[in-house]
Parts: sequence; C-alpha cells; structure tokens
Amino acid sequence: MNPSSLIPRAACAAILTIATSAADAQTVDKLAPEIGGMVNAVYPELDALYKDLHQHPELAFEEVHTARKLAAEMRALGFDVTEGVGKTGLVATLRNGIGPTVMVRTDMDGLPMEEKTGLPYASKAKALYKGKEIQVAHSCGHDIHMASWIGAARTLVAMKAKWQGTLMFVAQPAEETVSGARAMLDDGLFKRFPKPAFAFALHTSPGPYGGISTNVGAMTASSDMVEITFKGRGGHGSAPDKAIDPIVMGSRFITDVQTLVSLEKDPREFGIVTFGSFQAGTAGNIIPDAAMLQGTIRTYNPAVREKLLSGVQRAANAAAMASGGVPPEVSLIEGGIAVVNSEQVVTRVEAVLSASFGNKYVRRMPPLAASEDFSAFVNEGVPSMFFMIGTSDPKQFEASRKPGGKPLPANHSPFFAPIPEPSIKNGVSAMSLAVLSVLAAP
Ligand SMILES: [Zn+2]
Ligand SMILES: [Zn+2]
Repeated sequence: MNPSSLIPRAACAAILTIATSAADAQTVDKLAPEIGGMVNAVYPELDALYKDLHQHPELAFEEVHTARKLAAEMRALGFDVTEGVGKTGLVATLRNGIGPTVMVRTDMDGLPMEEKTGLPYASKAKALYKGKEIQVAHSCGHDIHMASWIGAARTLVAMKAKWQGTLMFVAQPAEETVSGARAMLDDGLFKRFPKPAFAFALHTSPGPYGGISTNVGAMTASSDMVEITFKGRGGHGSAPDKAIDPIVMGSRFITDVQTLVSLEKDPREFGIVTFGSFQAGTAGNIIPDAAMLQGTIRTYNPAVREKLLSGVQRAANAAAMASGGVPPEVSLIEGGIAVVNSEQVVTRVEAVLSASFGNKYVRRMPPLAASEDFSAFVNEGVPSMFFMIGTSDPKQFEASRKPGGKPLPANHSPFFAPIPEPSIKNGVSAMSLAVLSVLAAP
C-alpha cells in the first residue's frame, strides 16, 4: 500500500509546510542543544518522578494513582486534562496557534511480577490479581516512558515560541494486556478530542543508552491467540473402532498446520504458528471425548495474518473430517495488530534525530516479534512513528554481546533495570525533537 494514502489531508499539508524548506530540518536539530540544557535543568525532578512511579506500579486498568500524578503535572504545565478516558486513561491537550495536532503516547501499567533488581528504589508494591495477592513491578520500563513524556511536555511548553499547533499527550492504561488503547478509542478518544495528524510513542529496550532504533513499516508483530477443541467420541482403549479419537485429530492438525508457514505463506514474509498447549485424556486405556489446543500466531503483514488464521481453521476442520468427527470449535482471541510506522514521518524525524544525536546513534531495526497496542491508534489512519530507546550501559551491552557474554536482562525480566540517567534525558530529547519535526513553524 502506498503510505501516502494513509495520510489525512491536514497531515499532508503539515508535511509540505515543513518539507518545503530544507532549512527547517536544520532549524529543528539546531534546537537540540537548547533542549539538552532544559532537560539537564529539570532532570532532578524527572528522576524523582521516575523513582516514585517505579516504587508504586499499578496493574492494567488500575493505574489510578499513576494517572492522578501525571494529571497534576500536566495541569501545572497549563494543559487541559481529562481523566478517566478508557477507564484510567488521560488526555492532556494544549493549543498553541494554527498547526497540526500531534499526539504523544505513554503507557502507565506495571506487570504482575516480583522485581529482583535489588535497586534501592525497587518496587515492593502488591496488588490483588485474579483473586490472589501478588507483587507488581515496572519491569517493562513504562515508568521511563512516563518520565520522558512529562519531560517532553515540559520542554515543548518552555519552547512555545518556536512552534505552532496542538499537543495531545495521551497516557493509556493496560498496554500489557493489549487493551488500553482500544478502551480509550471506544471511549471516544478521537471524537471527544481532536484526531491527531501525527502520533509518536517510545519504548525502552535493553540496548545501549544514547541509541534510538526505529523502522519504516512494521515495528512490532500482530499476535493472535487461537483455541481449538476437537470433539471425538470417548471410549475404551481396547475398542478404538467404537470411539472417535480426538487426540489423533489434534496430532494430525499439529503437523499439518505447519505447512501453512512452510508452503502457503510467501517465504519472504514473517509468520509464526506455534501451538504451545495440547491437553487431552486422563489414562492410557481411555479414549477421551475432547482435545484442546492453544496456540499463538505472529505476523507483520495483515494479508499474511488473514491467510494463517483462515488456514488454521481449514486445517482444523480437515483434521476432524479425516477422522469422521464433527467440525471442531475454533475461537480466535485477537491480540495486538502490528505497529506500522509511516515512511514520511520516520524519514523526516530520523533526519532530525541523526543530525542531533549523530548518525551512529540512530538506527533502523528489524521488526520485533512482540506486540504493542499503540497500533490501535495508528490503525485509525494516523501517520505515526514508534521508536525504541536504549537503557543499558554501553560497556555492559558490548560485553554482553561478546562470545560467552551474559545477555542483559530484557523487558519483563525481574532483573530488568534501565539506567534512568541518561535514558530519560535521551527519551525527552528524542521525543521533543520528533514532535517539533512535524509541528508548524511560527
Ligand atoms: Zn511489556
Ligand atoms: Zn511495554
């Protein structure tokens, strides 16, 4: 698909306004030292906010105190703040003359897990999760995202004389359950508030700090869960002719289904079909009456996704038919759709970031097999850019990549420990520059 067809007219106008003068790209990156100075000045406050958020993580859709803290910060900066959008989400807007509306998203939720970093500010928070008391930790770095989000808002407000347009800062709940963005959209995010011309989000990675990675096209994968119940006829193991064995259906399916990946999918396209759970039966001499399989399907391209999902259904039906059984129950639990970055936005912002940070710090990366629900906003037809910021010590990172080196703890590890300074400073600078790259000049 031609990416330009995804860009609304207002956005095209904004790109044209900015791109007509080559000096504009330079003007934006010339602001980098000024931004750096401001970030240094406010860093102690951002660091304190980060450590406070880190010690008080909240689970998906329970980010009540987190949202309240962010709302207070944004009101103090002069933003118009609406809370409770999509349950615990918040929207903060600030108008500053005629220009595009630019959305900056942070996520707010922590994970139901124990932090084992041993840091002085490690989380000891607890919460009820599925009826049990569990520990909660910001082991995906969403606290770094929030601190960078507040920092970028502060910087952009301080630089108000240098841009025109509307800032739309969105803090979404429940990214980890891939449902918070949808909840905000269903609660009228792009109807009650202006639909943005551009959107940005950043995410921490265990890469070296100072590094920024992005991609044109897919950044993350679509992830769908599939549950299949094969229904047979139970019976005695000594009389298989009187029964219909659902374990045989499931086994036939498990081997057949991989031909979707090896033979039906374009080999140049990414696609994974994994069935990680197969449950049936209780004893060796009993043929059970049902077998249940659960799997995950990961893709970047929507056409490949469709192909694999319909193929799974077909392979499951065929496996049941081959045994003379009834059609199986196939249910699809949709997960996140792939985040697809706009070529125009990435090209534009990448040039500014490279000029500001240096070419070697701004890299293209292959898409991740993980998923991320920022895609829900992008899929509303908002040209967007999702990028990763490194949060590890570059020396430790290098050592980890040497033969025999120990891999650094990544997101969702109980040992994941992003280094706040300079990771947050880099997040603030990169996000501020990204937003300035698409805002109108005064
Ligand atoms: Zn995560
Ligand atoms: Zn995350």
